[in-house]
Amino acid sequence: MSPKPDLFNLMPRRHEVSCDQLGVIFVPLLGQTGLNVSSLCFGALALSPLQGCHDVTRGAAVLRYGLEQGINFLDTAEIYANYEIIRRALKGLSHPVVIATKCYAYNREQIKESLERARRGLDRDVIEIFLLHEQESMHTLRGHWEALEYLLEAKQKGVVKAVGLSTHAVAGVRAGAAVPEIDVIHPILNLAGLGIIDGTLPEMLEAIQMAHQMGKGIYGMKALGGGHLSQDPVQALNYARQVPGVASVAVGMASRLEVDINLRIFAGLEVPAGWLKRLRQERRILHVAEWCEGCGRCQEKCPQGALSLEQGQARVDQAKCVLCGYCGAVCPHFCLKIIRQG
Ligand code: SF4
Ligand code: SF4
Repeated sequence: MSPKPDLFNLMPRRHEVSCDQLGVIFVPLLGQTGLNVSSLCFGALALSPLQGCHDVTRGAAVLRYGLEQGINFLDTAEIYANYEIIRRALKGLSHPVVIATKCYAYNREQIKESLERARRGLDRDVIEIFLLHEQESMHTLRGHWEALEYLLEAKQKGVVKAVGLSTHAVAGVRAGAAVPEIDVIHPILNLAGLGIIDGTLPEMLEAIQMAHQMGKGIYGMKALGGGHLSQDPVQALNYARQVPGVASVAVGMASRLEVDINLRIFAGLEVPAGWLKRLRQERRILHVAEWCEGCGRCQEKCPQGALSLEQGQARVDQAKCVLCGYCGAVCPHFCLKIIRQG
């Protein structure tokens, strides 16, 4: 199962890598960054206390497994509080990994602290990709301009290789496309348009296409709609990975089975029915993120009466919840996710 070491060298052009059990996955260039990233990006939110992962050893083992199977790109964030898991997973790995992280800093002091925290926490001098987290529009981006300027200085010094933004908004993608200094855009993208806060899926696709034509490196997020599309991961991931202009897709993975299934999908291979059956059999629950603001929209939407508000946050009655996913589509902050338990 161990990978061939030369598969992971960063190459100048789009190319493919063979993986022992997987056939082939693509490693395209991410825009004009000079970084080749695997088309499947390891979404590390799934290995975060925010999604119930408190076991560093177990989290690191799953991530390490994914990296050893051919993934060379991982996405995290300061708020995920999982730098230790990543550091452990990378220790002694024989091939380079491109790390993207992000934070909410908006001024020099904050971004300086966040960048240093990432370098220390991940135990590396250079962070390949540093993003401004959840930029909703040009207005938001202007409000973070000091932080962006600091990142550009860090890029000049070689401490970061590419800068950019993540966004759940069509206007966020358009803003990133319009700013020449932005190298990378990490937009929400799934076949149902779940979680887009200001528009439709066709509008998001159009914005992504425009950004791609402007030379931005694009990697998508929430291809499984925060878990709400996970009943058919083959359909959901095959959709996301084939959107024109998207180099890579970050997918949260919390088990080896998920890694194996996702790698096969991204290699264009069939997934054994037994694997998908096992995946569906794993108990899943609806999880409310700690950043819930208690607006109550999800409660109004739930047809089962499974949601209530307690102490200013949504609470799920798992016994009533049928995991239909309707609530996740109306949450403005993407707080509701269907996750595997334990
Ligand atoms: S819609 Fe989202 S932010 Fe509002 S109460 Fe529900 S989970 Fe919280
Ligand atoms: S997933 Fe469906 S049943 Fe469960 S809380 Fe959300 S809307 Fe209600």
